[in-house]
Amino acid sequence: MTDKKRFSFEFFPPKTDVGREKLNVVRDELNQLNPDFFSVTYGAGGSTRDNTKEIVFAMKTAGIATAPHLSFGGDDEASMLALINEYKDAGIDRIVSLRGDIPSGMGAQRLVYAEELVQFIRKHTGDHFHLEVAAYPEIHPDAASYDSDIQFLKRKFDAGANSAITQYFYNADSFFYFIDQCQKAGIEKPIYPGIMPITNFQNLARFSKNCGAEIPRWMAQKLEGYGDDTASIKAFGIEVVTRLCEQLLAADAPGIHFYTMNQIEPNKTIWNNLGLSS
Ligand code: FAD
Repeated sequence: MTDKKRFSFEFFPPKTDVGREKLNVVRDELNQLNPDFFSVTYGAGGSTRDNTKEIVFAMKTAGIATAPHLSFGGDDEASMLALINEYKDAGIDRIVSLRGDIPSGMGAQRLVYAEELVQFIRKHTGDHFHLEVAAYPEIHPDAASYDSDIQFLKRKFDAGANSAITQYFYNADSFFYFIDQCQKAGIEKPIYPGIMPITNFQNLARFSKNCGAEIPRWMAQKLEGYGDDTASIKAFGIEVVTRLCEQLLAADAPGIHFYTMNQIEPNKTIWNNLGLSS
């Protein structure tokens, strides 16, 4: 692949003023690395609607390319369209379109598939937005099968998505095989690996279980063995994640999306290890 690779950073919206102030510092520091864009997650069910929007607008005002994540949750079409139009009018030109999950305590409700959100945005705003969707090299936990998950990803592209960002993974082969299968299924649009740096084993293990991402046994053994030694966990995480990114980029991955967890480190060190600033 000769095209310029694309690099992006993801934030989640902090709940407190202190968290928001801290995020501004992180944002300014990571922005010096000159990524292609930042994205800001969205709590399905609208729990972070205003928070996500405020952060996205503040970044836009600061001249930083930013994409909100978005899902229907329990919202009706009118309020969803109003939000999408607010983004459009503010000059936002990229949305990460998702189904989301039902937040605990919100009871049973039908989730709107990402494919339907992509259709909805295209229907109402034409080609204004670059639409990102989610992809799962280790397959989404609700998927009926490996192949059906790929077929539903294809449907998101057929509905008008421009590119996909993957769930994180630590096994490069799962990504390479997935890309192969996507190509065989007729998907030609770029799929960007999502990369989760490692800072805390317990949190990572819990989160990975929920979202169906696998921590390879050898990595789990090593991380568990460090106990409370956070310096060693971070050093090991930087080594392993740098190596994973190197493998992906060498094998023509079109770029990388970093799940920053709103932290400067270890994202900045991994970025520098990859020589992306030069
Ligand atoms: P979909 O693509 O709609 O798929 C969901 C499941 O349904 C899959 O198993 C699929 O195989 C199946 N499926 C799809 N279409 C159909 C259909 N028509 N009929 C039957 N089955 C179907 N979560 C948040 O809450 N906020 C965020 O900001 C957020 N950002 C994310 C960013 C990225 C890059 C990724 C990878 C995930 C993100 N998530 C976020 C998590 C995501 O919302 C969950 O993984 C969610 O469970 C699925 O969302 P999706 O858009 O992939 O769903």
